[in-house]
Parts: sequence; C-alpha cells; structure tokens
Amino acid sequence: MNHFFDSHCHFDFDHFDKDRSAVWQQAQALGLQGVLIPGVTPSQWPQAQLLSQQLQGGLYAIGLHPWWLNAYLSQSECDKNDWAINDWAAHLVQCMAPFAKDQHCKAIGETGLDACMPPSKQVSLDKQQAMVSAHLRCANHFKMPVILHCRKAHNELLACLDQVKPVAGGVLHGFTGSTQLAQNYWRRGLRIGVGGSITYPRANKTRQAIQALPDEALVLETDAPDMPLSGKQGQRNSPEYVPQIAQALAALRGQALDCVTQYTLYNSRKLFDF
Ligand SMILES: [Zn+2]
Repeated sequence: MNHFFDSHCHFDFDHFDKDRSAVWQQAQALGLQGVLIPGVTPSQWPQAQLLSQQLQGGLYAIGLHPWWLNAYLSQSECDKNDWAINDWAAHLVQCMAPFAKDQHCKAIGETGLDACMPPSKQVSLDKQQAMVSAHLRCANHFKMPVILHCRKAHNELLACLDQVKPVAGGVLHGFTGSTQLAQNYWRRGLRIGVGGSITYPRANKTRQAIQALPDEALVLETDAPDMPLSGKQGQRNSPEYVPQIAQALAALRGQALDCVTQYTLYNSRKLFDF
C-alpha cells in the first residue's frame, strides 16, 4: 500500500467536529500516515497540539496566519505601529518557547502575505511583512522550518526571505503560479506544497510549474477544509483526498504513483524531521 503525508491540513478546525474520527479512519485506510496541523493564532496552538498528540502520525506548527493577525493585534497590547521586527520576534519567541519543546511541534507557521483578504480581516502589507520577518527569525531561533502562505504578494515575500534566510528551510504551501516563481522559492531552500490546484485542467501555469520542479522540491498537502479538488468545488476538502492529489501529480509528471508517494513522503520527513 502507498503511504501519504498531508503536509498542511487544518484538521483541528470545527468543520471536522462532527465526524473527525470517521474521516481520520477513512484517510488511514487509504494510506494516510499522518498530517501536519498548521498554527493560525496563539490561542489555537493548544488545540493543534492536543489533536496532533491524539492522531497517529500527528504533527503541528505554531504561527500567526495573516488572516488572524488583525484580531490578534486588536486584542493584544502589541498593536504599536513603531514595533520593530526585533520586538515582534522576541514576543513570538516567548509565546512559542513552551510549544517548541514539544516533540510533535515541527515547524513555525503558517505565516505569510495575503494581498486579497476579506475586508473584515484586512491588515496592511507592512504589518504582514514585519510579522513574516519575525516568524523567520523565530524559525531560525528554534532551528525549525517555516510554513509560508502567499497570495498576490510574492515579490514582497521573496524580499523577506532574502533578508532572513530560513536555516532549516520550509515550504511555500498551496502553491499556484509560474515556473519561474516556483524556482525562485526552491532556489531559496523552500519546498513547494502541491495541493488540489493541480487537479484543475485549466490551471496550466501552475501545472507546468509543478511539472518542471525536481522530485526533491515537492510535498503533498490538502489545506483542508479549504482548496477543494476539481469536481468537488463548494465541498469541504479533506485529508482523505491526498491520494487523489498524488495520482494527479503522478499523471502530470509521467511518474508511477508509488514513486511519487515515496519521494513526497521522504521530502516531508526531511522537512519536518520525523
Ligand atoms: Zn493553511
């Protein structure tokens, strides 16, 4: 049987509250070996930690997602425009330290830049960039990889990576974009998270980019409950669909399924040290 790892799955979200154990059993029956649950905001880290401990092969990350940044800033005392990146990094290191010691905690993130957020969550790109830079420093402090999210702000994100190079690497998750863009991340030591977007026949640019990368660059992810596969638009995405993403990747790259599952699992292991 082929073994898969879902490198980005928000399995702690309430979308799965009603049937989490049934979904998990089904995913395991299909060969899922484990998931990494990303952090989105400090108050959610304990729930990601708890769930990752309950699941066989469960891992998690700690970070402040750009969509949660506004709420975090408005309720914490740290909303000072003059806060330097050093201060943010020191603040985050302090919040993260108790979790970073946990053997299930394997990465810093997700963090990133999002230039098309819903209006209620909007926060300036400057503040988002300061937060990314702070996360990169935290990742280097704890010698952990970083998980990055990016929508329509790739040049700015690449600039952050050039300022603070992630020593333990990381992943640009949910990648969509050109071959050149994918290479720009890979050259900077980031792996590329391959999800449901490659199952859309019209996503030519992204499909070409994923086709052109070396095996070592690729990890599988669902980003569940978001990013549904082609044919499942409007439905909840699920870790049960990782094998289908692997199949699409194998077809796209002209490789055997067991070859794709082996190298993507190996890459996830190298990246998250498990
Ligand atoms: Zn995510």
